[in-house]
Amino acid sequence: MPNLTNYHSHCSFCDGKAPLEAFVESAVGLGFTSYGVSSHAPLPFPAKWALEQERVGDYLAEIERLKKKFCGQIELYAAMEIDYLNEEQHPAIDYFQQLSLDYRIGSVHIVYTPEGKMIDTDTNAENFKQILEQDFRGDLKQLVAIYFESSMRMLEYGGFDFVGHANKISYNVEQCDPFLTQGEWYKKKLTDFFALVAEKELRVEINTKAYLSKGCFFPRIENWKILKKFNIPIVVNSDAHRPELVNAGRMEALEALQEMGFRTVGELHAGKWVEMPLEGMGCNF
Ligand SMILES: [Zn+2]
Ligand SMILES: [Zn+2]
Repeated sequence: MPNLTNYHSHCSFCDGKAPLEAFVESAVGLGFTSYGVSSHAPLPFPAKWALEQERVGDYLAEIERLKKKFCGQIELYAAMEIDYLNEEQHPAIDYFQQLSLDYRIGSVHIVYTPEGKMIDTDTNAENFKQILEQDFRGDLKQLVAIYFESSMRMLEYGGFDFVGHANKISYNVEQCDPFLTQGEWYKKKLTDFFALVAEKELRVEINTKAYLSKGCFFPRIENWKILKKFNIPIVVNSDAHRPELVNAGRMEALEALQEMGFRTVGELHAGKWVEMPLEGMGCNF
């Protein structure tokens, strides 16, 4: 089977549901050629879902141990999914740049209200609706605009290899207003975002985590033509939180990419990103 890789994954060092080794075993069992471990990076406040700063040493040591243990069976990589929070906390700061990581993911989950209150946009639709009413007086456009401002600033700072789940907010936005994401205002936000991704020569992941439960990828399949237009390199990741889901939704995404005329996906080989051909999903392989 071709293109069996994943570079966005979690484990019990953050909010993943099993020890790191169980994920690697699952990937090896499926015949993966490479696998990247990317726990949520430490945050400047206590958060159950993120790696604690005091455990970073243990985290890196465990990946090192598994690199040796599974040497010859799979290429294993050490990474972190790093939040863009504000000017002080983002992937490009010295702390994250100096850690011995093989690559870095830049993601936006949290944004700030105009009053400076922290909001997690990556929540269920019910909570999202509540946030919208309580903290944005129902002004969905303001919330979306702030999300894209944070996302754009993350690109300006850089310091990471690929963008995690771009436009993930769209799912919750659609639960509040099914028309907003279809309009020109939203499309311009997205186009400006991907234009900057291209200008900064960054990569975008197709995140398949929600495919089984919600039937969509992030960025959304409707957005992929913008990726194509700007010739943005991609990587297809499952964002697995359970070992049995390391490949969940990936084959469907690879097939859809091929149908849309994409020819390659990014994979790490000997520590370098290379463009590998999309190889005949569902054909005679
Ligand atoms: Zn994330
Ligand atoms: Zn993640």
